[in-house]
Amino acid sequence: MESPLSLMCVVAHPDDESLGIGFTLAKYAAEGVYTSVVMATRGERGWKGKPTDYPGPEALGRIREAELLTSAKILGVNEIKFLDYMDGEVDRVEPLEISGKIAQHIRRLRPQVLITFDPLGAYGPTDHIAISQFALGAIALAASCEFSDPGGNPPHQVAKVYYMIDSEPLVKLYTRLTGKRIHVTADGERRKYTGWPVWAASARVDATGYWDVAVEALASHESQVGHMMALIRRIPARFNISSWAVQTFYRVYSLVNSGRQVEMDLFEGLR
Ligand SMILES: [Zn+2]
Repeated sequence: MESPLSLMCVVAHPDDESLGIGFTLAKYAAEGVYTSVVMATRGERGWKGKPTDYPGPEALGRIREAELLTSAKILGVNEIKFLDYMDGEVDRVEPLEISGKIAQHIRRLRPQVLITFDPLGAYGPTDHIAISQFALGAIALAASCEFSDPGGNPPHQVAKVYYMIDSEPLVKLYTRLTGKRIHVTADGERRKYTGWPVWAASARVDATGYWDVAVEALASHESQVGHMMALIRRIPARFNISSWAVQTFYRVYSLVNSGRQVEMDLFEGLR
């Protein structure tokens, strides 16, 4: 019997899943694919309010965990697993420890498809870059006979790996919508979000039918995007929603298909 389809997303902070691939998660969950999100931190330091109102890392972590669980329920995501690292410190974690934890989830859930951040972590946050590297390390560990899994599950080879990417035109649209260029400052440098060239996408997943679900899921991250939701809800009146809800991916590798034709389904070659 063929294994049921399973999709795993490995990211760093609650809201990465909704901002990154909320539409895609909603679509595959609705189609009956087993969807899971492995989350490195609880976003304990991502305070958007006045510094004097910051409730502290533990309290914010609890708030953001609850927001993520609500978002996951709306998207139909089957499982959320936290790796329990501290926001802002993912790049300093011991690699075998964190990749080993992710590898255990891979062996247990046996996803055919795994999605993570691109090598730039979308727009440069160090946690995003680190979790992408650790996820790739985990894929190697999960498949290796030399990795002994405390959970006792046998090796598993992920068939397809994707980076979630946004195109240059989408980043421009986002800048038009918000009037602000997404950026982060790290190591004393301002890192600007540029997006990927349109031609670089190897997969486009049309989830326009899941607009309402994905926007509601995003809205549950009140502490992060509450101030932007009015703008986001006006997108359909101002823009073609397919620019937002047809999500693009770069295929890092595939063991089941090849060629330059743009995939419409991340499970191409597996169904
Ligand atoms: Zn993030």
